[in-house]
Amino acid sequence: MKKMFVFTAFYAIAILMNLQSTYAQTDSGQKQFAKIKVGEIEIITLVDASSEFDISIFDGDKTLREQLSGGKKLPASVNAFLVKKRDSLILVDTGIGKKLPENIKAAGFQPEQVNAIILTHTHGDHTGGLLKNGQAAFPNATLWLSQKELVYWQSQNSRYADVCKKAYNGLKFIVQDEKTPLIIPEMTAFDIEGHTPGHTALLLRSQNEGAILIADLLHSVTLQFAYPDVCANFDADKHKAIAARKKLLKLAADENLSIAGAHIPFPAIGKVAVNGDGFLFTPLENP
Ligand SMILES: [Zn+2]
Repeated sequence: MKKMFVFTAFYAIAILMNLQSTYAQTDSGQKQFAKIKVGEIEIITLVDASSEFDISIFDGDKTLREQLSGGKKLPASVNAFLVKKRDSLILVDTGIGKKLPENIKAAGFQPEQVNAIILTHTHGDHTGGLLKNGQAAFPNATLWLSQKELVYWQSQNSRYADVCKKAYNGLKFIVQDEKTPLIIPEMTAFDIEGHTPGHTALLLRSQNEGAILIADLLHSVTLQFAYPDVCANFDADKHKAIAARKKLLKLAADENLSIAGAHIPFPAIGKVAVNGDGFLFTPLENP
């Protein structure tokens, strides 16, 4: 048991180090935020860092992966999102703590205006921006995550989890039952366990429009829409990750919901259609 924990912790740190160096190398000068309206709600993509993934982090048929990627690295991004409804300003994830603060300002907001932060999960590329000089980077925000994810966070990085918990005066737990309103009446949470044990997706519905913030449901547009059975190394439970991926992409396709992903390249928002055994993603035009 102890051996397994040590291995898991080492693996998580190795992945994080790899991610951080990749992100640091590939940042570009492209536009860093985009907005869409979902009824009364505004969703704003905030790029924290640009990135690319080597195909070796994905499983599945090697020849097919190479054909699809053309031998190149796969484009990706590290994104956070703002969900805005009148005075409610909810930040979904915080990136690795790179460009998020400046992009919040570029989008017309101040960190002090954020009332709530939702952590879809607790990998370092989602929690890295929580603190600034050891204090809450968003001093007026309440911190939300699923109870299962807190247990996972504490098992992987208890020191950082405890500092963040203290900086934000405790935590609130997300009910992932697809029906209990979360912070605002238009938002509910889905349990998408697989990538991590407490991984959460968010569904927004307002005035006959809808969107799903899919978090880390997938890591490559090139591979995983067409082949949703393909997983990245980062998925802790691949069977559950695949099931969650198919369920949510099917829901988005069937109900014409927009999707927004934490690692989809800018603008990170688009529509999904069923295409054979997989899906087709069409990114938002002119963000
Ligand atoms: Zn991630």
